[in-house]
Amino acid sequence: MNNSPPSADLFPLLGSHVPTIGGLAKAIDRGVGIGCTAIQIFVKNNMQWFAKPLSQQEIILFTEHPQRKRLGAVVAHAGYLINLGVEGSENHEKSLRSLADEMLRCEQLGIRSLVLHPGSHLGAGIEMGIACVVRNLDRLHAEHPGLQVRITLETTAGQGACIGARFEEIALILAAVKDPLRLEVCLDTAHSFAAGYDLSAPSGAENMFSEFDRVIGLGRLSILHLNESKAPLGSRIDRHDNLGKGKIGLETFRWIMTSEDLSRIPKILETPKGKDLAEDIEAMALLRSFILGNSI
Ligand SMILES: [Zn+2]
Ligand SMILES: [Zn+2]
Repeated sequence: MNNSPPSADLFPLLGSHVPTIGGLAKAIDRGVGIGCTAIQIFVKNNMQWFAKPLSQQEIILFTEHPQRKRLGAVVAHAGYLINLGVEGSENHEKSLRSLADEMLRCEQLGIRSLVLHPGSHLGAGIEMGIACVVRNLDRLHAEHPGLQVRITLETTAGQGACIGARFEEIALILAAVKDPLRLEVCLDTAHSFAAGYDLSAPSGAENMFSEFDRVIGLGRLSILHLNESKAPLGSRIDRHDNLGKGKIGLETFRWIMTSEDLSRIPKILETPKGKDLAEDIEAMALLRSFILGNSI
């Protein structure tokens, strides 16, 4: 598979999390079919620990897909059961095995970014949780050297005992792991809003990204999840909504789409949608109109 940088005509890299029903390669058909230039997928059922290995045919159908070159970014999101924030339980070992399996699947599919929620400390406290995430990432990296795929830590809403609501928590993980270059960061607008970053106006979004740059570094940001939030500022509740309906507001998304600093970052919608993906088509048209409107 060609891993050279995406050609200029594919920008902005914009798309959505697309279903893989019927096979992984179908996600490429669906994404390209609705005009995505970037897609996110699950590389196995996101609510199960394990799945049967990918067949050679599945791998080839995906990596050699004739439409693959029309996508400037193909990224994956890790399963929801995985938790690197705890140790010493059955689920700990399962989490490590499940995540390693997903990393290897990404490698087979030519996917370079695997988005992961850092984990939940389940009440042990944020510092203990972060230390645990660091040990687990170090172990995964040590056991699977030489992979191209980067675990991409996602900012969270801080629901329950979830780690990663504050940028400082992600920065601590990046600073403590033995091989930080094997990690990247994904910012989810709905999560960060619910975590307390007030991006409900363009000036607030600008402040948030300045803070991100200061604490983590914009160079580490490899994916943006463009989601509206149904939940209020600082509520620590993770509820995505469609653009134009939530608490953040369209002007912030206009600012994000026209920000030069963010122009090369793949932007993915994870908002509610029906089977025909009509909501994604509508949202992408709206987001693209912001860029066109700006250049007139
Ligand atoms: Zn996520
Ligand atoms: Zn997200």
